[in-house]
Amino acid sequence: MIERKTSREIARQAEAGAIVADVLALMRAEAAPGVTTGELDRIAERAIRARGGVPTFKGFRGFPGSICASPNDMIVHGIPGGYALVDGDILSVDVGVTYKGFVGDSAVTFGVGSLPERTVALLAACQASLHAAIAACQVGGRLSDIGHACQDVVEAAGFAVVRDLVGHGVGRRMHEEPQIRNYGRAGEGPELKEGMVFAIEPMITAGDHGIRLDADGWSIFTTDGSLAAHFEHTVAITREGPRVLTLGADGASVVDAPPGG
Ligand code: MG
Ligand code: MG
Repeated sequence: MIERKTSREIARQAEAGAIVADVLALMRAEAAPGVTTGELDRIAERAIRARGGVPTFKGFRGFPGSICASPNDMIVHGIPGGYALVDGDILSVDVGVTYKGFVGDSAVTFGVGSLPERTVALLAACQASLHAAIAACQVGGRLSDIGHACQDVVEAAGFAVVRDLVGHGVGRRMHEEPQIRNYGRAGEGPELKEGMVFAIEPMITAGDHGIRLDADGWSIFTTDGSLAAHFEHTVAITREGPRVLTLGADGASVVDAPPGG
């Protein structure tokens, strides 16, 4: 069963989402050559708790960080630690915040320093696929419309959609039904209804879509060593159309900013 939220619940979830957006902006601002992902994690946790939020990821199935920090060919779920960023890296940062009982979940991949054109294109394609997927979140549509829209954009740009990782419903818990694929045919699966809230999160690679789990039990890499990108927003389906809940107080997010350095 796919839970549906009231407009009041969605408003509360947007408050959690605003903290997420502000923390992602902070991560992008603080990331620089020489800074470790562990330092970013500590900055994020402090910022989340200062706003009265709880870092949702911390302790989730034993995950030690408040953020996931996944550089270069790591797709998602990177444990923050001693890795020091290098000029030319890309870094995927995923943030989850629980606030007033609801979870906001959003992620962005950005460059550290300047990036080659092809890498900027990878980030731009992932961002564009997220926007296409969000546009498919319409009352009366079908669940598979979301992944179909995403796949279209990614493959037209010459990149690959990761098959083995999915988006999800999100609300009082981080992972609710349904699972949301980032590929597939349109017009299939459950009907989309007002009040459904989804974490839409395309994960794409510059090479093949194969993935491998690292020996640390968390980090997920591309099997071929190609670069990966991950963009995510928490989105409510409303009668007025999709509403992104992970936006900052100014109504913006670095998830939607020009990709690159
Ligand atoms: Mg996330
Ligand atoms: Mg998510």
